[in-house]
Amino acid sequence: MDIVLATRNKRKIEEIKRIVKGLPISIFTLDDFPGCPEVKEDGATFEENAVKKAGAIAKCTGKCALADDSGLEVYVMNGAPGTLSARYAGEDADDRKNNEKLLYEMRLIVNEKRGARFVCCIALASPDGDVKTFFGHVEGRIGKEPKGINGFGYDPLFYPEGHNRTFAEMYDDEKDALSHRGRALRELQIYLNENK
Ligand code: IMP
Repeated sequence: MDIVLATRNKRKIEEIKRIVKGLPISIFTLDDFPGCPEVKEDGATFEENAVKKAGAIAKCTGKCALADDSGLEVYVMNGAPGTLSARYAGEDADDRKNNEKLLYEMRLIVNEKRGARFVCCIALASPDGDVKTFFGHVEGRIGKEPKGINGFGYDPLFYPEGHNRTFAEMYDDEKDALSHRGRALRELQIYLNENK
């Protein structure tokens, strides 16, 4: 089966390719389809955004498309930054600015109240309009300073539950085994194995 990854985030593409390795699928990216439109992520939920992205790219490419919409939810901030995780510090945000903003917003929050989770929805759309969704999440807490250099996004601030190292201090396979994206992709893996 051919699958186009409906994301331009290079780190996500790396993670997805790593986790689906071994499955009988050929992976394409949007670089292989330069004519495809930019899809606006304006949904209220991760699921809405993932379904919208995958559907648009399947329609434009005529192949199955896989989209990931994911983000960080901090409990004491009512789930923020949530679906706005990538643009938390504004339209010109990058990972460093987003992390700085999060640390600033949480500067008065004590350790016991720094609980958070990463959430991921993966949508697999076929060109005929059929869409399947797969979910994963990982509970943890937000540290008080960035630690580690691996991964991307909020990884240097996120301690998965039961661990005293951030995702950015872990090896790829350790993060994949615990992460929201790893969990959602393993659900997808089961589905693809059953529907070869
Ligand atoms: P989007 O799904 O492309 O809208 O953006 C997701 C955003 O959530 C990323 O830009 C990161 O800021 C954050 N995020 C999602 N998954 C991860 C992860 O595995 N580690 C760290 N940050 C993540």
